[in-house]
Amino acid sequence: MTTLQKLPQDLHIHTTFSTNDSQVVEQQNLETVAFAAHAEIIGISDHFEHFMPHRYDEYCKAVKLHNFHIGTEVNGHQSVPLAMKYEFDYYIYHCWGKVNEDYKALNELISVGKPVIVAHPYATETDLDRIPENCLVEINNRYIWRFDWKKLITPYINKFRWVIGSDAHQPHWLNQNYARQVSREMGIRETILF
Ligand SMILES: [Zn+2]
Ligand SMILES: [Zn+2]
Repeated sequence: MTTLQKLPQDLHIHTTFSTNDSQVVEQQNLETVAFAAHAEIIGISDHFEHFMPHRYDEYCKAVKLHNFHIGTEVNGHQSVPLAMKYEFDYYIYHCWGKVNEDYKALNELISVGKPVIVAHPYATETDLDRIPENCLVEINNRYIWRFDWKKLITPYINKFRWVIGSDAHQPHWLNQNYARQVSREMGIRETILF
């Protein structure tokens, strides 16, 4: 039986803790992500505004139970003061293009000392000229193909460190891996045709 080829890392994954996100299906819970096991390094990054602060302990406990990294996706400057008060392994951050306060708050969030990944800049119209050098910037499977990525990314290739994420909201956004785990569990041998 072939062993599963895992992705090296996926730190942008949503689960049912993102309660107000209509794209998250009810089956997209931590058990589903654990079962798909699509990456060597997995981090959960539910929308900060959807579960914080009231479900912080519950979230950390649940994510840790699966040995995933505990992240959160922070939507702009308004959430930053509260996000800085709670411990996460890393942050994913929406820096909205024309919102000056978002750029300032990014620096504050970075000062916490945990990795801050600037999320899908093309989807949030982030001005990458205003993002500090060496920042972590995401190339995101959910959105990148909708944009002229060559044009958008080329000027910044050497300016930033890059992180690749799925931004999965549903099990099939984790690629073929859920189906592959089912096949493996059932002892099914895949027929390779070509
Ligand atoms: Zn996002
Ligand atoms: Zn997201």
